[in-house]
Amino acid sequence: MIDFIFVFVLGLFIGSFLNCVSCRVFLEEDFVIKNSYCPNCKHRLSALELIPVFSFLLLGGRCSHCKNKISWQYPLVEIATGLVFVAIYWSLGFNLLGTFTSYQVWSLIYYWTIFSFLIIAFIYDARHYIIPDRITFFGTIISLGWIAFSFYSNILSMENILPIIYSGVFASLFFFCLWFFSRGKAMGFGDVKLVFLLGLILGFPNIIVALFFAFTLGAFIGILLIAKGEKKMKSQVPFGPYLIAGTLFALIYGSDIVNWYWSFSLK
Ligand SMILES: [Zn+2]
Repeated sequence: MIDFIFVFVLGLFIGSFLNCVSCRVFLEEDFVIKNSYCPNCKHRLSALELIPVFSFLLLGGRCSHCKNKISWQYPLVEIATGLVFVAIYWSLGFNLLGTFTSYQVWSLIYYWTIFSFLIIAFIYDARHYIIPDRITFFGTIISLGWIAFSFYSNILSMENILPIIYSGVFASLFFFCLWFFSRGKAMGFGDVKLVFLLGLILGFPNIIVALFFAFTLGAFIGILLIAKGEKKMKSQVPFGPYLIAGTLFALIYGSDIVNWYWSFSLK
């Protein structure tokens, strides 16, 4: 249990860092860690103000200097990152008493890293309706590196690698068609690039689970928003967050769902 708490707290701090990065990508600043500051008055945050969630509660959601309201995005992203980190740790079968190979430790680091990239893409797409190319590009490089490392470690054979590459290519082609035939109205081109990365992360058939989840959740929330009168039928809605939520879902439950599905169709 103590390890879960430790992983959650680690996720809170990473989430705080991802908040900073997602703001700076937009401002075209460097990725280099500089002192964090209030986006309104540029007041530098003290060590106490850098503690995730806790500082937000302590300051009552306001900057200690200019009293400007701090966005709810900050504590929400921190908590969400904490939960994502715990979910990955748990789904890879880690626990404090178990033993694990160095490959398992590397896979934990890989999934934490790649989901940190996806969380930035999530925040960014939700706020600005665009997925930064650098995020997709570096995420793709890391995932290809991971596949190569798995091959080198004798975990994946050539027959395992091809379906992973195909799931990226076919998911991307499918989204390219959606983008092309709707003239960019149903799907942005950022999504075409993003799903290639998601295919590399999940492989086949988990990518299908992720896309199915994303379209179902997207339709459900879309109907809710239209019913509440917040969006119209033709409103632009960023799809990246749904795809990323679907990827997390497929990573954790994908194999269970695929087994469940096959158990039905074989009867
Ligand atoms: Zn301020």
